[in-house]
Amino acid sequence: MKKKISIIIIILLLITCTTLPVHAQTLKELEDQVASYQAELNNKNSELAKKQAESKAIASQIVNTQNKINTAEDNIKKLEDEIEKSEKEIKKKSQESKNIMSYYQISDGENTYLEYIFGASSITDMIYRMAVVEQLTEYNNNIMNDLKKLIAENKNKKEELKNEQIELTKLKAELEEQKKKIDAEANSIEGTIPNVQGEVKALQSKISYYKGKGCKSNDVIGVTCDVPPKVNTGNGGGSGIINANGFTTPLPGVRISNGYGNNYPPYPHKGYDYSTNCGRPIHAVAAGRVYYVGEKLDNYHAHMVLIVHNVNGRLVFSQYAHVGKYAVSENEVVQAGQVIAYVGSTGWSTGCHLHLEMSTDKGWSYNAGYYEYRPHIINPGTYVPH
Ligand SMILES: [Zn+2]
Repeated sequence: MKKKISIIIIILLLITCTTLPVHAQTLKELEDQVASYQAELNNKNSELAKKQAESKAIASQIVNTQNKINTAEDNIKKLEDEIEKSEKEIKKKSQESKNIMSYYQISDGENTYLEYIFGASSITDMIYRMAVVEQLTEYNNNIMNDLKKLIAENKNKKEELKNEQIELTKLKAELEEQKKKIDAEANSIEGTIPNVQGEVKALQSKISYYKGKGCKSNDVIGVTCDVPPKVNTGNGGGSGIINANGFTTPLPGVRISNGYGNNYPPYPHKGYDYSTNCGRPIHAVAAGRVYYVGEKLDNYHAHMVLIVHNVNGRLVFSQYAHVGKYAVSENEVVQAGQVIAYVGSTGWSTGCHLHLEMSTDKGWSYNAGYYEYRPHIINPGTYVPH
């Protein structure tokens, strides 16, 4: 009797241990994810708008600075013209003075000027002549001195403007550098937006799919709503031999060419490889529902079919990679042994083969991203005959 009780206790313990709560995903979690991506997207958009406004403000500062540089340039030109004009004027005046002298002088001998003055017809004439010469030359000298002063002033002004222009040019270069940096920051923010938008869109379409299947926020996807067809013995009549657990081989008659966990540098092999000729039909390993058909999930663009199975309420996933042609589409319910695709060599592959990968509880792109899914990968031999 005692023995019987302890056996019952052990059985109960085993049941409890194997039915530890499995964390599957609720619709609410998906909704929270989409909300957080949406918030991230809003942040990015407002940050981008801020950077763009900063860039615009700097651009107008650059234009202002350039205008100031141009104005300084114009003023320098004006001063140069004025200096040139003054210099010409000085030349003219000095020529005039010379002319006055030569007009009044007899032009031979060393002291022509004095000879001329002394050669005056009378004292009055001489004084008159002296005064005229003096006045005229003094007048011209004064003008020339004023002009020389003006030239010096203009040269100073020109120097100041040139310095100002150098400073402005430096400032403009700094502003341009600043703008470049801000534009690069804006570009890098802008570059990440499509990814987040993609996440939002993908999640939204998933949510609307599950809602369409009657899932409520607290429903566990695939477990309490949108439940895949149960895997049962004799489920469907494919060409393979279906195990007692309802699973069959994806390629009847083809041996496994590379097993699970084999060293496949730098990582252990994540599934079973079956090398065979391209075009050979691939069969679903169990009854289930197709949830992904395409080549966008894999970085190397391997064409893939992903199926979710329901094994007594537990979610099991099978992935068929490197396939050629597809024979099913997303959301299609399939039976064990049903042809779902044909062997190919797409993606990172060196020859025609099928890579079969399986996981429990978490399925890549079903209720988990790749890195969350990875630790849930299992040996396909757990279910599939080998
Ligand atoms: Zn493989």
